[in-house]
Amino acid sequence: MVHASELKICEVDTDCLFCRIVAGEIPATVVHETDTTLAFRDIDPKAPVHVLVIPKTHHPDVVTLARQDPAVSADLLSAAAAVAEAEGLLADGFRLLFNTGVYAGQEVFHVHGHVLGGEPLGPMLA
Ligand code: IMP
Repeated sequence: MVHASELKICEVDTDCLFCRIVAGEIPATVVHETDTTLAFRDIDPKAPVHVLVIPKTHHPDVVTLARQDPAVSADLLSAAAAVAEAEGLLADGFRLLFNTGVYAGQEVFHVHGHVLGGEPLGPMLA
């Protein structure tokens, strides 16, 4: 059997804020959970609905996740869709955003999709 460390996949990073939320060490308002994903409200919401959707395994950004685990990448999209539906965002639309790297202003290096909605969001690059 191949150990995860041999695949260079970090399952859990004990210094990572979102790994600690997954572990239950830091409280979060969880709105959706599956075997592989967790969704919780952003602590500093930028819209009436602002939910972060993350894989339970640690991957620093969406590019790394897509390369290391396509199945969990698909789970993450399904979870984002389920959150958008549960939050009532499908009729009027919403934004799903992955800040990736320094130029995008990524602050937490555990991949997370922002589900934003509940009001007109305006153009992306205004
Ligand atoms: P980024 O800029 O795409 O990395 O977004 C990080 C997001 O995490 C920001 O929107 C923060 O408000 C959010 N955040 C930081 N700490 C917490 C927390 O403890 N709980 C929920 N959201 C958090």
